Amino acid sequence: MYLKTALRPARASRESNRRGAINMEYVFGGALAVLILAAVVFAVWVAMGGSKEEERHVLKAKTYICDVCGKQYTVNLEEMTDAERRPAPTAPKVATCRKCGKKAAYQALPCPECGKVYVPLRARDPFTQEPDICPFCETNVDAYKRKKRAEARG
Ligand SMILES: [Zn+2]
Ligand SMILES: [Zn+2]
Repeated sequence: MYLKTALRPARASRESNRRGAINMEYVFGGALAVLILAAVVFAVWVAMGGSKEEERHVLKAKTYICDVCGKQYTVNLEEMTDAERRPAPTAPKVATCRKCGKKAAYQALPCPECGKVYVPLRARDPFTQEPDICPFCETNVDAYKRKKRAEARG
């Protein structure tokens, strides 16, 4: 083992204090074991998709609806620009339209109640105090999500 080899000269030069050197070896061995364990845990965590927080911000695909041409399209994670992948939380979620080239494509989300895709008010104005209302079924999506979360907690 590498660690034992590395420690050998130090131990030889301190032959009189042999017990101390051996103790140090145990300490280093223990620390190494902890490091390896941490590395394994981290690798598994990454393999399982990393943190939930990350998942929520980086969607596998995003749908946009353009204000100018009115077209709706979906961009996969691999095709996204950096701005599309990680939009600033304080800026409107607007991208350059893939259909007409105007910077007027807003990120749309499906309504959790009726499933229809629309651009939430918050995509245009991240600081809005207005509730997120689905334009199709008029569900208050904020209240809907709060209710679902409360139900999930039990
Ligand atoms: Zn467009
Ligand atoms: Zn709806």
